[in-house]
Amino acid sequence: MPEQRKFRAIKGTRDILPPDSALWNWFEKTARGVMESYNFGEIRTPIFEETELFARSIGAETDVVQKEMFAFDLHGSRDLEWWRDLLKQGAHPKDRFSFRNRLSEFLEKVALALQQDRIGSGEPNSRIIAKLKSTLQQLDNALDRDANDEVESLTEAGQSLAIDLQIGQSVVLRPEATASVCRAYIEHGMQMRPGDQKLYYVGPMFRRERPQKGRYRQFYQIGAEVLGTSDAPAIDAELIEMLTVLLERCQIEKYTLLINSIGCPDTPERKGCRPKYVELLRAKLREPEIFSKLGADSQRRVETNPLRVMDSKVPEEQAIIEKLPKISELLCADCREHYEKLKKELTLREVPFTESPRLVRGLDYYMRTTFEITSPILGAQNALCGGGRYDGLVEMLGGPKGIKGIGFALGEDRFIDAIQEAKKIHATRTVDVFIAWMGEQAYPTAVRLARVLRGEKHTVELPPEEMKFRKALERADKMGARYVLILGDDEIASDMLSIKRLADGKQEKISEEALVDYFRGAR
Ligand code: AMP
Repeated sequence: MPEQRKFRAIKGTRDILPPDSALWNWFEKTARGVMESYNFGEIRTPIFEETELFARSIGAETDVVQKEMFAFDLHGSRDLEWWRDLLKQGAHPKDRFSFRNRLSEFLEKVALALQQDRIGSGEPNSRIIAKLKSTLQQLDNALDRDANDEVESLTEAGQSLAIDLQIGQSVVLRPEATASVCRAYIEHGMQMRPGDQKLYYVGPMFRRERPQKGRYRQFYQIGAEVLGTSDAPAIDAELIEMLTVLLERCQIEKYTLLINSIGCPDTPERKGCRPKYVELLRAKLREPEIFSKLGADSQRRVETNPLRVMDSKVPEEQAIIEKLPKISELLCADCREHYEKLKKELTLREVPFTESPRLVRGLDYYMRTTFEITSPILGAQNALCGGGRYDGLVEMLGGPKGIKGIGFALGEDRFIDAIQEAKKIHATRTVDVFIAWMGEQAYPTAVRLARVLRGEKHTVELPPEEMKFRKALERADKMGARYVLILGDDEIASDMLSIKRLADGKQEKISEEALVDYFRGAR
């Protein structure tokens, strides 16, 4: 007998059980309702994507990409890697045929891997494989003729072709969904659709972070993106307004909306204001009396991503950060105007905000508008939601020029915590009718009536096995059922049904014909 062991959910992941799942469902339904009222449509993208997609969009220097992604090899062709390493060693000194034989063997393994769909069969692999086959033929020919120089150069050619062959495809569980949405937008030519594309998504994200309360390795986000040719501040403001409407529906009153503009990057046409600010910040942070007071993480970021020093949460660094130059002092005229208009738009929509010059956001692709909503009821992990504008991202991912974007992602896990803390919304699932049936004769009627009532959208519990009346009542009570429909010999004989209302124990008899109307009235 194998040793008995208990399986547990992996650290940083968790199960969401009833009745808690009812609140999750309520929240998702509410969020969908709000977003659809703003004319956002749902997009569903895959849970895993090419690693490169996130490395390019989020930024290779970010924590998410450097440390937090769950990556795996999609095709799993380790045997080919082993053979390729052998090819890289060239010919054995004592066996001039060894490279040729290894290449021939490698090609057989490649053919098998292709058959089993373990390596990609499209470009560039198909071209490389054709070339490898012809290299093998030429090698045979050169070996026959003892043309040693030719053998040598063909060996080198074979080696570099084998290196170029794409054996694995590195993929990751998505750490966020903006890059996926942009990838899908480009892949499906969505710029051809009329107007701005307003898209929302709901689903799990994965980051290898240190788990703690409010921070998981599999967590859930709801997000929205607006992609199109316009960067009107009204778009930014509408997106933020939509979030505040959601907060209102969830009756979360204690929150702060922080906004900032982080300027614009360089483009081929013009110099941006953000790189100038980053340089100024870097120079300031390099000053020995400042640098020496920074922690190891911030010291590293002075070179890799000085903006991130601004949002450090390390207590000892706060006094230094307070005195650092603010980007608002360096915004170019266009960025300043965009930011001023955003503030006007928010005021027009009666959305209260707090300006936070330190709000720079962790991911590289943001520019101009950035925002975050925090809630003091959450404790250390107090960010409910974050977002910003990312005008260059679609183009950077190989999409059409001039497509701009803005979006947000909210943490569902944290929203649920905040709703629970606020104690205003209580979403539970209730059993409307518990059918207490007794006796073989009653059973067919119980099955039939259960179906009728479920058809009326009532939640009905039909015990699969006969229960004693007292036990059935106890069970119904524990389940929090509202009514018990009693079907025993008496009811069958008299053609009447008994209904007991559990709130006050009131019991009455009705005919089967009156049943549907009775429960419609009881809603
Ligand atoms: P980000 O994509 O990092 O801007 O995160 C957006 C929102 O997702 C945050 O404001 C959090 O509410 C939530 N979030 C991010 N990381 C986690 C995590 N590891 N666990 C739970 N929620 C998270």
